[in-house]
Amino acid sequence: MKIHEYQAKDILAKYGVAVPRGEVANTLDEALEVARRLFINGAKGVVVKAQIHAGGRGKGGGVKVAKNFAEAEDYAKSILGMQLITHQTGPLGQKVQRLLIEETAQIDRELFLGIVLDRAKAQLVFMASQAGGMEIEEVAAKDPDAIYKEYIDPAVGFQPYQARNLAFKLGLKPTQINEAVKFMIGLYKVYLETDASLLEINPFITTKDDKLFALDCKINFDDNAMFRHKELKELRDVAEEDPLEVEASKYSLNYIKLDGNIACMVNGAGLAMATMDIIQYAGGSPANFLDVGGGANQQQIENAFQILLSDKNVQAVFINIFGGILRVDTLAQGVVAAAKNLNVKVPVVLRLEGTNVEEGRKILKDSGLKFIVGETMQDAAQKAVEAAKGVTR
Ligand code: GDP
Ligand code: MN
Repeated sequence: MKIHEYQAKDILAKYGVAVPRGEVANTLDEALEVARRLFINGAKGVVVKAQIHAGGRGKGGGVKVAKNFAEAEDYAKSILGMQLITHQTGPLGQKVQRLLIEETAQIDRELFLGIVLDRAKAQLVFMASQAGGMEIEEVAAKDPDAIYKEYIDPAVGFQPYQARNLAFKLGLKPTQINEAVKFMIGLYKVYLETDASLLEINPFITTKDDKLFALDCKINFDDNAMFRHKELKELRDVAEEDPLEVEASKYSLNYIKLDGNIACMVNGAGLAMATMDIIQYAGGSPANFLDVGGGANQQQIENAFQILLSDKNVQAVFINIFGGILRVDTLAQGVVAAAKNLNVKVPVVLRLEGTNVEEGRKILKDSGLKFIVGETMQDAAQKAVEAAKGVTR
């Protein structure tokens, strides 16, 4: 689960990690009110920041520094409600529904701090870099040595000496080291106690008067841990999520929308990935990842169908099921019912194996509907790619 920058900064503040003074605004009036308050309280300038879940807002024109109230008003007017396009939003961009108005910082250096799980090492890794502010993914790809790492032993946790190592490598001044250590230990605590899956401060800045601040903050949480964080769950902003993915999550379907034209309905995440691979191998492009789960019933299949077909790019549906807990005849009943109820017009290609496969095939045959059945996974994938050609909706 993702949250907005202003929400992430609220969490940091609770843990004693320094963030600039500022407040979120949902309307232009609120934004002006916040800006006025900041100026009255001595701010030399304010920064107007679009709050969307994607990064790269600065480059996309969603972050502007205003030297006075009139400028702040101009920027708030132009950014609020804009369709902000960044390298992470896709070509359509994301509508800006709220702003964060903050006191500007007198930036000396822009650095980077981040914590993620390194799955290969089965440890958390605390990263730091002097190349903050820009796209850190690019730094990691072009100059991996510019990212310093401390791996965290799960039994002992992040140690102060590790924070000091990173602080020295960042080239911080002696007077900033202790503050930086506290800052990093605070971030580690946030990561651990919120069950985060990613925490990124980019930029982590030093100011001309030697202070340290988190100027930007991104936190993602582990969805599987959200049951024990009611207060965090409330931070979810479904307006920022793909509407089909939101819909799918209501039915506990594991659905991720992709750009292709062949919809996949599969049971099991491993099989779902293999299915996407084999569609590509057959020269096609998957429209989604979808795991209907092991215990899916007829209703669940129908829900899944509805979601797949709501995607207007879909020109064929490829159902690839290995009947285990979900028996093939149950699936077939679901598919037939859904195809009838939803008046499915695109070709439906199936590859079925496993428990009650014969019964399942018979149900399809007796339905009077036109299904295409593949002999093997590869055969079915090829048939799906073929069937999708020239389909218009
Ligand atoms: P992102 O582009 O979505 O990662 O948004 P950021 O919050 O990181 O802002 C982008 C850039 O705007 C930062 O790297 C800074 O260079 C600049 N910026 C943000 N806040 C301030 C500020 O208070 N003062 C100044 N001078 N620049 C800022
Ligand atoms: Mn940033």
